[in-house]
Amino acid sequence: MSSEKSTNFIQAIIEEDLKTGKHGGRVHTRFPPEPNGYLHIGHAKSICLNFGLALQYGGLCNLRFDDTNPSKEDIEYVDSIQRDVQWLGFSWDDRLFYASDYFEQLYDYAVQLIKMGKAYVCDLSPEEIRQYRGTLTEPGRESPYRGRSVEENLDLFARMRAGEFPDGARVLRAKIDMASPNLNLRDPVLYRIQHTAHHRTGDKWCIYPMYDFAHPLSDAIEGITHSICTLEFEDHRPLYDWLLDTLGIKPRPYQYEFARLNLTRTVMSKRKLRRLVEEGHVRGWDDPRLPTIAGLRRRGYTPASIRRFCELIGVARANSMVDIALLEHCLREDLNLKAPRLMAVLRPLKVVIENYPADRVEYLEAEYNQENPALGTRQLPFSRVIYIERDDFMEDPPKKFFRLAPGREVRLKHAYIIKCERVIKDETTGEIIELRCTYDPETRSGTPQADARKVKGTLHWVSAAHAVPAEVRLYDHLFTQENPEEVAEGDFTAAINPRSLEVLENCLLEPSVQQAAPGSHYQFLRHGFFCVDPDTRPGRLVFNRSVSLKDSWAKIQQGGRAGK
Ligand code: ATP
Ligand code: MG
Repeated sequence: MSSEKSTNFIQAIIEEDLKTGKHGGRVHTRFPPEPNGYLHIGHAKSICLNFGLALQYGGLCNLRFDDTNPSKEDIEYVDSIQRDVQWLGFSWDDRLFYASDYFEQLYDYAVQLIKMGKAYVCDLSPEEIRQYRGTLTEPGRESPYRGRSVEENLDLFARMRAGEFPDGARVLRAKIDMASPNLNLRDPVLYRIQHTAHHRTGDKWCIYPMYDFAHPLSDAIEGITHSICTLEFEDHRPLYDWLLDTLGIKPRPYQYEFARLNLTRTVMSKRKLRRLVEEGHVRGWDDPRLPTIAGLRRRGYTPASIRRFCELIGVARANSMVDIALLEHCLREDLNLKAPRLMAVLRPLKVVIENYPADRVEYLEAEYNQENPALGTRQLPFSRVIYIERDDFMEDPPKKFFRLAPGREVRLKHAYIIKCERVIKDETTGEIIELRCTYDPETRSGTPQADARKVKGTLHWVSAAHAVPAEVRLYDHLFTQENPEEVAEGDFTAAINPRSLEVLENCLLEPSVQQAAPGSHYQFLRHGFFCVDPDTRPGRLVFNRSVSLKDSWAKIQQGGRAGK
């Protein structure tokens, strides 16, 4: 892929602003998550965009928690979000902010609007407010409380804050235009009463600002220049502008919208992810099948692969669906040269090499990654009893099967050529339990004689006496449908793949992996890329398969059916 970068529409806007001096040459962005769930790959797109623009143009990017809804928010999420942004490789330096830090200032702005006759306290119930709002084809009706005097509004708003009224009894609304074609301008609610403790401000407040009110003002307070959000906020932009201009705030930020990321075979919204977690469809927010950053990390995704993915998908204004195969492709590209390549037998079949002495162990030198000699080599123990992959033997093989079969020869990777002499079966079940083979001592890998002898198949193996036991978890997509949102009456859980997790408890790995620390990446030859899971304990290694070796994205591209 070409390394030449094209300019996306937001970069074009920034470059124009820099030219005209619109923000005095400054570029200041923010990433504003609501701490009501874990971050997902869609957020990664927004993080890479906001922090990336700041880096590219010598600007700044803030991390701001948009914590205006205390009932759904939690400190657990605040912590996980910070960890995930840092893990992706970005830094907010000393600019970690909370919308709740601005509650007092926001309150003052609301009072200012009331004094200007631009906001009023409304006693309609939430249901009545909805009825009065009208529809896209019908104008709304004015609230009977719209004409309240400034004095009465100031008094009621102060008493709302003081806790005199129950939840839902009153709201503060902007006074804009009940006939506006844009529903967001039909006297939107700015504050609601909610007697709920906040994870930062405790019981100090019982009124909380709405997102549409808090967001533009928080941007302004922080000196943000380019406030970048997803397309569903396009219709909110007139309100964003109305608030800043009505309050006469200068210099002021401007909002720009881009298309959110959608990925095939997964769901993205925090609400849906939370359902998967709470209903036990997955093992937690960091389940390796989830598109959460925590899940991707546990699965074995690297920060570089996620950043590369975000670079490749680009930033546009049209909604689209990205094939999850592209994400997997980015991980393969990143790990291909970095990950040591080991031998791991996931479904072991015992092989006894009859002409190899029982008391002998040879150590065979083997490079960790033939494409990257810098990773060095290890000594692989070879002995009389080994294990190979059960699938690598067939008693009655079809023509194109080049692996082991009775009377056939294969090469053992980094070792010798062996020949299958006999098959031993369980007398009652008939199951194959062992193969009896012989080896050819003249065929040791790396020796000149070895090169003279050609066999078609090469198998991975481990020495029985030296192998390390491990649990290996294999994953498939969490959903059976490309777009789970389109499933059975809107309930995406109907499309959950019942076979998304396969646990193999009795795998055997080569001994060099014994000390592997959680989070380390490996390629298991012929099986894919794997990562050590945090469930690993002394004596009990647990691995997740990150991706298999088959690159379906490369295939999609060759077939000319690329999404982009
Ligand atoms: P969700 O719908 O998943 O709950 P959200 O938009 O409510 O997401 P926020 O915490 O409000 O989540 O999002 C923080 C930032 O991340 C916002 O600027 C939002 O636009 C952006 N963002 C959220 N989801 C995506 C996505 N799928 N693609 C790109 N950006 C996203
Ligand atoms: Mg949100």
